[in-house]
Amino acid sequence: MKRGSKAGVAGLVVFVAGFLGTPAWPADVLFMEPAGATEKGSPRTYRQVTDAGRLKTYSGWLENESAKRALDLYGAAWATMQKRQGGGEALPAYCIALEKGGNHADIGFRLQTADGVEEHPHRPYIKLDPDEWRFSTTLLHETGHVVLAVLTDGREIPTRELASIPHTTAALTDRGTAFNEGFAIHLETLAAHLTRDPELRSRYQHERFAFGPAGGKQGEYFRHAADLLSFSQNIARYFEVRENNFAFAPAFRGPDYLRVQLEKSRDFATLRDADQLLQSEGFYASFFFAYLVRGDGLPSAKLLAERQERMLGVLAEMFAAYPPEPDSPHLLRFVETHLRQQPDEAEGIVDVLMDLSHGVLVDADAAGLWREYYLAALRLDLKELPLVRMVAARERWRIAARDDPQVLYSRLGPQIACIVPARAVKLAALGDEQPLRFDINTAEEGILLMIPGINAEEVARWQAERARQPFKDATDFRSRAGLRPEVISELRFPESG
Ligand SMILES: [Zn+2]
Repeated sequence: MKRGSKAGVAGLVVFVAGFLGTPAWPADVLFMEPAGATEKGSPRTYRQVTDAGRLKTYSGWLENESAKRALDLYGAAWATMQKRQGGGEALPAYCIALEKGGNHADIGFRLQTADGVEEHPHRPYIKLDPDEWRFSTTLLHETGHVVLAVLTDGREIPTRELASIPHTTAALTDRGTAFNEGFAIHLETLAAHLTRDPELRSRYQHERFAFGPAGGKQGEYFRHAADLLSFSQNIARYFEVRENNFAFAPAFRGPDYLRVQLEKSRDFATLRDADQLLQSEGFYASFFFAYLVRGDGLPSAKLLAERQERMLGVLAEMFAAYPPEPDSPHLLRFVETHLRQQPDEAEGIVDVLMDLSHGVLVDADAAGLWREYYLAALRLDLKELPLVRMVAARERWRIAARDDPQVLYSRLGPQIACIVPARAVKLAALGDEQPLRFDINTAEEGILLMIPGINAEEVARWQAERARQPFKDATDFRSRAGLRPEVISELRFPESG
């Protein structure tokens, strides 16, 4: 990250207890507020918050477990980059802009000071609503984005517009969004898993069983809708991510975009395929979380810190070797880079990837094998469990991936955007409706069923063709998907005309 000219740092210094036992980084925090209107297309202009009362309030709000994790991780990412680049620069202040309706991370801003305006075009920062509760979970999540921005040296992770909604834990969006959000979410999963803080536990874990009117919208009557109303789905970001549930297809298969994309319920007989896993932020979160906590019981603070340091080092190396592109298969690049950079951990990383993905990245028959196993388990048919074949297949996958990471890319196709103007999707709180938009190589069954006039046979053939071989482009799709002309005429391919 290019460090801009020296920003005036608030007198406040937060000495952070070591994140999971790593050495402490004293992380300065620079609180900023908007300085007048920003011209369209220019970076936002802020000024430092100088009011002593507000600074005291904000710094008090940082006195929580998640904020400490966040600031420490930021320091660790900075140290990783300094080590790589042989630099000795001090850790720049962590910039928090207090802004109504903020609550996301960004790169690049201007800072108005007494001496003029400083430009910080590559500096990551976060915008937060000035509310105390935003300084724990939201801050930690957004720090995930900041950490990636530090490791990319201040570059964005490019995304593609392939979904009708911004993103959510259960949904498929696009590779860049899934990676960036999944990385941020795994920090929440980790915090929820390790926390002893009662406030955090109550947010993520079901320890309060409130019945009757006193339970409010978080009470038991509302249980299965409560997480949806948060939009960020905190419970799913802990429980479903921890359990790797997003490696599986949605349970809802009817023609309803929001039910298919936002609901957490799964069909555990049906695995998501390689292309789908790379567009699932929930799966990404499970991967990074599992990478850190693998093994029996809670990992020691020392072990976690070591793994986290490796993870940051591998990410930095990956971004240097493969600058992020909109179609980058980040997860596989991470594993490939990890195998190259940390050969002593090859077995560990391969086991995590293969078990969480159930082999769909490397074997066309993996989904069928899993289905057979799952359904035999369902029938309690112990004689029909394909255990011997499964053990042999897993061993083949492990060795293949360990010895030649290129095999991990063998099942992937391109991301191909498709729009259906006749169908709209609306998340009321997020504004206007959006046209139905998806990737023809990954859209789930219920999404395909929304296309006007399409029938079940056409959907089945579409899925079977792309399982055999992902579509190369719109032309390949038109010739192989076998849709009737009146159905094809409902589809637009914005990239290929
Ligand atoms: Zn995010």
